[in-house]
Amino acid sequence: MKLLKDKILKEGSALNRHILKVDGFINHQVDVELMYEIGKDFAGHFKNYQITKVVTIESSGIAPALMTAKELQVPMIILKKQPSKVLNTHLYQTIVKSFTKGTSYELTLSKKFISSNDRVLIIDDFMANGEAARGAVKLLKMAGASIAGIGILIEKSFQEGRQKLEEENIEIYSLARIKKLDQNVIEFF
Ligand code: 5GP
Repeated sequence: MKLLKDKILKEGSALNRHILKVDGFINHQVDVELMYEIGKDFAGHFKNYQITKVVTIESSGIAPALMTAKELQVPMIILKKQPSKVLNTHLYQTIVKSFTKGTSYELTLSKKFISSNDRVLIIDDFMANGEAARGAVKLLKMAGASIAGIGILIEKSFQEGRQKLEEENIEIYSLARIKKLDQNVIEFF
């Protein structure tokens, strides 16, 4: 998506070879018009996939997921990150390793909101090693839902997320695919 790539080149910054900072329009301040265009793009791509719900991971996936759900006219569900590992019978729970923080967190989904009748589109801001997306897929499979695909704003293609998800036969649709990052270097495919 040209709009997103231009914004990344103009306002994003590569901290090092692994991390792209996009605080000014995705992760801290949110560019609402950009999110609206992103929502329309995802909805256009997945419009014939019989999506019943859009699912995202808190917190930076919420804005684009909301716009996508609005366009597809379906509910949006936020998978919650929790520090506790206490088992709760009302929740599906799984542990995810955080790429940016280097720690683990528990990802949860209430049993109330997803069933085996659902066909889900997962939306998230970044894909790095695919841990967050795979955690989301695991929870949705526990609920018996089918996964229609994953929509990602920024995929760092030099990391292994895509490969791992494709091994599970899940389609990934990314709006910006980064080939290389380094201090002051951002290269797209
Ligand atoms: P993964 O689980 O695919 O390894 O990492 C995905 C999650 O880590 C995303 O939801 C995002 O929050 C965070 N993340 C991964 N790489 C980056 C990055 O380069 N920049 C920022 N801002 N967040 C990232």
